[in-house]
Amino acid sequence: MKKVLALTFIMIIFLSGCSFGSYSYSDSFFAMDTYMSVTANGANAQSAVKKAKKQVLRLENLLSAHKEKSEVYRLNKNGSEKLSNDTIKVIKNALKFSRLTNGAFNPAMLPVTKLWGFPDKKYRVPKKSEIENALKLAKPEKISVNKNEVTLNLKGEEIDLGAIAKGYTSSKIIEIFKREGIESGIVNLGGNVQTLGAKPDGSLWTVAIENPDKNSEYLGKLKIKDKAVVTSGGYERNFTKNGKMYHHILNPENGYPAENGLSSVTVISEDGTLSDALSTSLFVMGKNGAERFYKKSEKDFDIILYTEGGKLTVSQGIADSFNSQLDFDIVKKD
Ligand code: AMP
Ligand code: MG
Repeated sequence: MKKVLALTFIMIIFLSGCSFGSYSYSDSFFAMDTYMSVTANGANAQSAVKKAKKQVLRLENLLSAHKEKSEVYRLNKNGSEKLSNDTIKVIKNALKFSRLTNGAFNPAMLPVTKLWGFPDKKYRVPKKSEIENALKLAKPEKISVNKNEVTLNLKGEEIDLGAIAKGYTSSKIIEIFKREGIESGIVNLGGNVQTLGAKPDGSLWTVAIENPDKNSEYLGKLKIKDKAVVTSGGYERNFTKNGKMYHHILNPENGYPAENGLSSVTVISEDGTLSDALSTSLFVMGKNGAERFYKKSEKDFDIILYTEGGKLTVSQGIADSFNSQLDFDIVKKD
C-alpha cells in the first residue's frame, strides 16, 4: 500500500512537472580541465542535457591544444590541417577578437604559455631570452584560414583556444536547448555561466561573482536572463616563486603575466564566445584600457572590474541588476 502511494505521489509530481513545464534535469561532470554543470527545465530536459554533455565532449576532442588526437593538437604538430566547421568557427572568432582588441587577445601564445609550465602544471619562471624567442612565434597575423584549411605560417607556431573555447561551448549548449524546445536552463562550465530564458517560476537567474580576495563571499550578485557571464582573473591559475605570484593570462606584448592592477574582469553579454574572449582581453588591457574599450565598443556587453586595491566598477547596462555589499563606481558609454 505504502509502495502504491509512493508511486502515485511520484507520478503526480512527474505529471504536474510535465504539464507546467517544471520538470528539471541536471548533470555534472569534468571536461575541458574543469568541473561543469548543465541544467535544463521542461519536458525534454533529460534528452537536452544528455545531448549537451555529448556536445561538450565532442568539442573538447576538437579544440583542446593538449589532447593528442584533437584537431588543434594535430594542427599545431603539422602546421596545416583541414578542420571541422566548429574548429574553423572558433579559430575565425579568435582571430577576429585578436584584431578587435588590438592584440590583447592572442590565440598564438601557446609557445610562451608552455615556457611558464601552465599546460602541464610544471611551473617555472623562464629566462627573458626564452620568452623573447617564443614571442616571435606568437603572431596571429601569420595564421591563415582558407575555406576549411588552417595554416600556421611560422615554423613552430602553435595555437591555444583556451580563452574562448568554453564560451563557444556554452553558446552551443544553449543552441541545443533551443532545438530541444527548452525555454529555461543554465550551464556553468567552470565559472563560464550562460543562461537561457528565466527560471521555471519566471524569476531571473542569480549569478554570484567570485571575490578574488576571498575576504567577502562574493563581489556581488547579478540578476539576469539570456546572458553569458564570464570571469577571467589571475587568481584562477597561478604559482608563486620567491614570494612573487605568476598567473596564466599573459600580456602578448612582453610574454609575462598581465600585470596592470586588475584582479578580475567579468563580461556579460548574450554571446558566450564574446563574453569569454573579451573577459580575457579586458583583463590584459587593465582597468583604464578595459574602460576605454567598453566606452568605444559597438558590441553589446557589460563589464564588472575588480582591482587589486579592492576597487569595484560596473558598467551602466547592469548597474541596476547588480547587488553588492561593496561600494562600486558606474562606468558609462561615451
Ligand atoms: P580565460 O580563463 O578564458 O581568461 O583564458 C585563459 C587561458 O587563455 C590561459 O590559461 C591560456 O591558455 C590562454 N591565454 C593566456 N594569455 C592569453 C591571451 N593574451 N590571449 C588569449 N589567450 C590567452
Ligand atoms: Mg576567456
